[in-house]
Amino acid sequence: MKTQATTGIDHPPQNISNLLKALTQLAYDHGASAAAVIRCPSIPVKDHLADLCKPPGCPNYGLAASCPPHVGGPQRFREQLTRFEHAIVFKIDVRAADLMGAARPDIFRTLHRIAATIEQAAVARGCKDACAFAGGSCKELFCTDHPSCRVVQENEPCRYPAEARPSMSGYGIDVFGLMAALGWPQHRIGDNNHSDDGPTGSIAGMVLIC
Ligand code: SF4
Repeated sequence: MKTQATTGIDHPPQNISNLLKALTQLAYDHGASAAAVIRCPSIPVKDHLADLCKPPGCPNYGLAASCPPHVGGPQRFREQLTRFEHAIVFKIDVRAADLMGAARPDIFRTLHRIAATIEQAAVARGCKDACAFAGGSCKELFCTDHPSCRVVQENEPCRYPAEARPSMSGYGIDVFGLMAALGWPQHRIGDNNHSDDGPTGSIAGMVLIC
């Protein structure tokens, strides 16, 4: 059985269920299309997914402190997971045309901001180790006008600590497996998922809470 220290809760909320409900609602309030609580043992992690970040997979490999090889990867994430019981997963459904077009950076920045907002709210409520993950490299989303990541190149704090969060990809988190575990329809760009506005896709974030 976990002790108070290992659950990461300084001052345990009287009702974990109410806390998770409030944090889930926060995701909706900030623009999520869906949000739900998942038990941490159900979070799928696959080593080969983290390998996809390596060249030639992602042009942002190594450019940000929150991307491989600067993050702990699947092994460290699995270790981290053992200290949590609950996480909140959220998704944003978007038109494929927007996700693949000029609106893409704004959509992904929203994903990061929702994740960071939930994490900060959880910390404020006593879950001191709450930890958020998003998608897409923060280098191209937040520091695109800077030549380099401040953390990697200057060993200085992140320029956007209240917004930028690491991508799930670098930890091997199976995003589509995560959505499947929650019973959410899996909208992959390129699949024939059509709404009135054309094909849709989903991007997701996750916050380990307690
Ligand atoms: S300084 Fe920029 S690139 Fe580096 S971790 Fe922060 S947001 Fe990402």
